[in-house]
Amino acid sequence: MSASKEKTLHGVGASPGIVIGRAWSVPRHAVKVVYRHLDTPNEVESEVVRFLAALEATKQELVDAREDLDAALAEYSYIIEAHLLILGDRMLKDRTVDLIRAQGINAEWALSQSVTEAQGVFDKVKDDYLRSRFADVVHVTDQVLRHLSGQNDSSLSNIREKVIVVAHDLSPADTTQMDLDWVLGFVTDMGGPTSHTAIMAQAKAIPAVLGLERISSEVTSGDFIVVDGTAGVVVINPDEETLHEYRDRQEAYELYAQETLALAHLPAETVDGRKVDIGANIELAEEVGTCLGYGAESIGLYRTEFFYISKRTLPSAEELYANFKAVAQRLQGRPVNIRTLDIGGDKFASFMELSPEINPALGLRAIRFCLKERELFKDQLRAILRASAHGRVRVLFPMISGVDELLKAKDLLEEVRAELKQEGIRFDRKMEVGIMVEVPSAVAVADLLARHVDFFSIGTNDLIQYALAIDRVNEQVSHLYQPMHPAVLRMIKQTVKAGHQAGITVAMCGEMAGDQRAVPLLLGLGLDHLSMNALAIPRVKRIVRLVNQKTWERLAREALTFSTAEEVIRFMDRQLKRQFPQIFTGARAAA
Ligand code: PEP
Ligand code: MG
Repeated sequence: MSASKEKTLHGVGASPGIVIGRAWSVPRHAVKVVYRHLDTPNEVESEVVRFLAALEATKQELVDAREDLDAALAEYSYIIEAHLLILGDRMLKDRTVDLIRAQGINAEWALSQSVTEAQGVFDKVKDDYLRSRFADVVHVTDQVLRHLSGQNDSSLSNIREKVIVVAHDLSPADTTQMDLDWVLGFVTDMGGPTSHTAIMAQAKAIPAVLGLERISSEVTSGDFIVVDGTAGVVVINPDEETLHEYRDRQEAYELYAQETLALAHLPAETVDGRKVDIGANIELAEEVGTCLGYGAESIGLYRTEFFYISKRTLPSAEELYANFKAVAQRLQGRPVNIRTLDIGGDKFASFMELSPEINPALGLRAIRFCLKERELFKDQLRAILRASAHGRVRVLFPMISGVDELLKAKDLLEEVRAELKQEGIRFDRKMEVGIMVEVPSAVAVADLLARHVDFFSIGTNDLIQYALAIDRVNEQVSHLYQPMHPAVLRMIKQTVKAGHQAGITVAMCGEMAGDQRAVPLLLGLGLDHLSMNALAIPRVKRIVRLVNQKTWERLAREALTFSTAEEVIRFMDRQLKRQFPQIFTGARAAA
């Protein structure tokens, strides 16, 4: 027997599911950029013209791509919009023209130089998501370079058989050129979980493994490959045994996906009849459609930092209003909690230089920043209030540490209400007001805070950080970040108790709420709403529907008696396996 040619590569599982099929290798290599000096002013000017023509051609390509976007992807047109904006950006366009003129160099070289400078700016961005958006600049530049070099091919539109697309990287223009009905899966060298390839793949439920680094040079068209988008694994030329194993897994996954997606639209109700509201967290208005597809009953957290961290100028109240209104309308009566700006800490602002702080997480963050920048805050409140006339909009204040801060925020809300009334502008006069409970002092005075709000939403991402003194973005202490720490569980319990005694609902919108291993305990602790990443919803609904509320209230009381996170985890492990053998088998139950 000949030796197996099987090879396994690991990357980022960017869209779940397993597919097995033939590769379609996108024959693309980075355009080689060579230096050329221009001798005469005439040469320089025609180089500028050549560059602008390439920009125009790229623009046309993007506009065509936007028009060709199929219905399922229509709401992702913002990705192409973003590329069009990059194309016209000063940093790229004007800077390149300046460089051609000032240094008498060819367009390709000047453009590459502008991109290197832009990279310097992106490298300084702390927010992972935004930093990763540099990939978009690279895509746009690459497209322009191809036009400059005349290497623009359109082989992607030729795909007419079921294939797995293998590429170094894929730009939105690439993905829109393909007829995605023929695409079984995507594998690329570049890209991460928030790249547009990941977003598109998820929207079309196409399994994808990205960030494989060298897959495009390992695979040629026609190779047989396995893509496991759940585990982030690609197997090239699998042998019989591997193939067999993956066929079984594929069948199991498809069954699981069908079952969970079917469950996604059933109510999340425990076996003994307790109804739990399952919502989604979003960062962009465009995500609403996906969330509804995954069975979200509300938007439990709309993070609004996007308007401030990706722009050079502040958004106007009008712009915010249009966006919030669109979200409210799209939800057709389902509630949305719009959180006011939570800038600072790990969330970086691009519109202004915040003075450097030694402890940004303890610094001028979120509500503290907004109470200082009153006009900016009032613009948000105005937009949220106006949007409340178009749906079930609620306002959510982040990082509230005590009653005085909350009352100051509410005073400003009152001020804006009065202004709108005077101007005769419509809004929901009963719009509910809530706070994130994510600072330990807020837990300690939760009973006092509850008198002034309509709901609580526990933000475990920050609450754990502040309660256990663990920097949430510092990898060196990430092992100490323990949702099951007795201190955290007691704080959740205390918050729920204070909220319920005051007759208000208590939600959770931190990562913990989407962890199916924590959900039974959270229900036992009495949480009314859970809000999470949309992809987690079907899984969470499935487990909610297996929970016996009474049993888990008892188990939650027992969980609260342990002294260490380790003990709670062991206890949960045992209980999850006992109560839900169909879901939890060998693996550790809670981390
Ligand atoms: C949290 O802190 O748990 C939360 C949901 O908010 P963010 O992650 O945006 O700080
Ligand atoms: Mg938070």
